[in-house]
Amino acid sequence: MTLLRSLLFFVSLAMVAIACTNPQSTTPEKGVSFALNEYRRQHIDSIRYAIELDIPESKAEKIIGKESVSFYLNAVDSALVLDFNVDKSHLLEVRAGGKKVDHQFVNEHIVIEPKHLVKGKNEFEIDFVAGDLSLNRSVDYLYTLFVPDRASTCFPLFDQPNLKASYQLTLKTPQGWEAVSNGKLNAKTVAAGKSVYQFGETKPVSSYLFAFAAGKFFRAAKVLDGREMTMYYRETDTAKVNRNRDEVFELHAKSLAWLENYTDIDYPFGKFDFVLLPSFQYGGMEHPGSIFYNEPALFLDENASVNRKMARASVIAHESAHMWFGDLVTMNWFNDVWLKEVFANFMAAKIVHPGFPEINHDLRFLLAHYPNAYDVDRTAGTNPILQQLTNLKNAGTLYGTIIYMKAPIVMRQLERKIGEKTMQESLQEYLKTYSFGNARWDDLIGIIDRRAPEDITAWSNVWVKTPGMPEYGVEGNKLVQLKDSVSGRIWEQPLVLKAIREGDKSLLFPNNDGTGYGYFKMDTVAKAWFFENYGGANAIFADPVFRGAMLVNSWEGLLRGDGPGPEKLVNHILNALPKEQNPLLVDYLLGNLQSAWWIFLNASQRAAYQTQLENLLWQLLNTTKDKGIQTSYFRAFKALALTDDGWQKTHGIWTGKLEVKGLILSEEDKISLAYELALKGKGDGKAILTEQLNATKNPDRKARMQFVIPALSADVVERDAFFESLKKEENREKEAWVLDALAYLHHPLRAKAALKYLRPSLDLLQEIQLTGDIFFPTRWLHNTFAGHASAEAAAIAQTFLTEHPDYPYFLKNKILQATDPLDRSVKLSRKYAQNEHPAKLSQK
Ligand SMILES: [Zn+2]
Repeated sequence: MTLLRSLLFFVSLAMVAIACTNPQSTTPEKGVSFALNEYRRQHIDSIRYAIELDIPESKAEKIIGKESVSFYLNAVDSALVLDFNVDKSHLLEVRAGGKKVDHQFVNEHIVIEPKHLVKGKNEFEIDFVAGDLSLNRSVDYLYTLFVPDRASTCFPLFDQPNLKASYQLTLKTPQGWEAVSNGKLNAKTVAAGKSVYQFGETKPVSSYLFAFAAGKFFRAAKVLDGREMTMYYRETDTAKVNRNRDEVFELHAKSLAWLENYTDIDYPFGKFDFVLLPSFQYGGMEHPGSIFYNEPALFLDENASVNRKMARASVIAHESAHMWFGDLVTMNWFNDVWLKEVFANFMAAKIVHPGFPEINHDLRFLLAHYPNAYDVDRTAGTNPILQQLTNLKNAGTLYGTIIYMKAPIVMRQLERKIGEKTMQESLQEYLKTYSFGNARWDDLIGIIDRRAPEDITAWSNVWVKTPGMPEYGVEGNKLVQLKDSVSGRIWEQPLVLKAIREGDKSLLFPNNDGTGYGYFKMDTVAKAWFFENYGGANAIFADPVFRGAMLVNSWEGLLRGDGPGPEKLVNHILNALPKEQNPLLVDYLLGNLQSAWWIFLNASQRAAYQTQLENLLWQLLNTTKDKGIQTSYFRAFKALALTDDGWQKTHGIWTGKLEVKGLILSEEDKISLAYELALKGKGDGKAILTEQLNATKNPDRKARMQFVIPALSADVVERDAFFESLKKEENREKEAWVLDALAYLHHPLRAKAALKYLRPSLDLLQEIQLTGDIFFPTRWLHNTFAGHASAEAAAIAQTFLTEHPDYPYFLKNKILQATDPLDRSVKLSRKYAQNEHPAKLSQK
């Protein structure tokens, strides 16, 4: 950990050094350096863009663009730097007042000399060919995704969050296409055989929030609370759309009303639309007036679990909350990106709770955040919530589990510390003070510190500005902090320890209310009692949060080698499942079961339990009354069935010859059944996949299947060729498809044959960061390594890191995060192999 701290120290020193040099006196570096960001923020304001894009019928043809950019300069001591991250051939002409302006095009920037600039208002017209990188072009639709610094891959601008601007967009599209953007549609006309959409000027927004989508979309509109909302979507299954439509509108209306009330600020951006995109990279993206969503997250299957319904309500509330937290008040620099994310999550939790009275929200919060946060925070590659950033081009690497999962936990603790009222009042002051502007975390901490008696700054330094998680153990009848990765750190949080008497024993359960953050080591007696009596008569089991908290403790214990070992834990889970009726806990148990099964059991252990496992899952699948739980058992059975009997049952469900009472299959389910059948390699996988492909009606799902199928081939030559194809950027365009394919390519059953893909996948990582979306490097690594549990796989990652001592800090961390379960699995298998074969070892 000393290493990590000194690295951070080094980064902040480097930042100071760059800030001291005049960025304009030299050639600007690629991306937007912190220094360029600061210089432009101090000298440029009142920015307006008028952009016109001509979208051709064919995806292969270029998109021609025209733009006028106007702004005020308060000094002309230096050249003007606009960002345009494309090949030189994309920049056609720069003009001012109708006359050509000479300029340089260097390191993805347009540089205009001071002689062409005036103090006060400046205006340039630019002709260009739009870059395709962030346009997500498909045959009959496209959509932008410009976060964090990708707007400049499409058109020239000042691409930094603290230069808010108003945008006026005109789109020419093939006829029959819809178009939507942040601004209100002012006019739709036809000219030269094309549709012309003219959108009104937006309120001041950051460049990463500017967006548009165009193409063949269905459209539905609804007026709720006096606000008209339009939904654009691609789903062809009309029954599915009809089933979901009203709920999707209502969830938005509810979220907006709640937020207006909480913030005491009306929805700030006028019109409100949303676009549902198949295979969208995230759950959603908060473009003001035009939120984009991943379509399957909003259009749920008939048999959707309560988890899925909750996730949908949450993503809608999350994106809606961003209209205030992120869009109205935006971080000054992307190192504070976590702030908008944590508030969106924090508000979403508050908004969603009352809509689901049947759900235990404390349990949901526990299971949705803590295990995921620990998955990163326990690794050597973890990071603090607030990170350093020297150039915007690396902003994507800041995103991850810590800001999405740990930060909400920390924020909840802050609210408990200062009280809900002080929290709400502080946030209102923050939003009002910085409306349509930018702010830092420390600005908010300043507001809270003035209102609260506690030392919030000191608290923030531990929880927000340093990485890692505390560890606690039971000593005597007290909970004490064990060793910490950073010495002298005080993790201020309320801690609880529940004691019960059972016969002559006293049993202690740490963190029984599930709110404490950290690893809570249980003693072996309490842990054994917990599993042996799971769901039994003792009143303590009546509280699902208690069960959840102890399961989380046990899973952490397994990963840290504190026992029980994987085989025992699998046994415990199999015993617990029939006694568990809470859908969230069933999902958590099944998740742990599958991780333990594939990653921590070896092949012979799996073989020993295979029949018992399948019989149990099959029985639970057929007897459970709860639809959501049934879906969970169905998914687990599908993933784990491996015997001839299990394969036949899976096949029977897929063909429809075997009926499971109450189970309704969507097209999505059918496809994944076909994938699993092919993967398990018992019947004619090729024929099954072909049949499913022919039966698949939805064109987006069909195209996705065509892409994924080679990764499932029984023929290793075909899989090799598929992996080779991923080395080309154009074959990685549909990232969600690539991730599906990677999961099958590296499936535990094929992990041995996939070892050879590991090194080249690591070699590609830097390129993937440059060409892919912000979550893609993490997900690429995760889906590559998640199926591996061998010492060989661990060694490949280790060797890679050893051979690249100067590898980019953020990416190195992502590798350490992704390979952590693998490393632990290798360590654990050594540990338990020693325990199980003491005779063999003593011979050495
Ligand atoms: Zn968000």
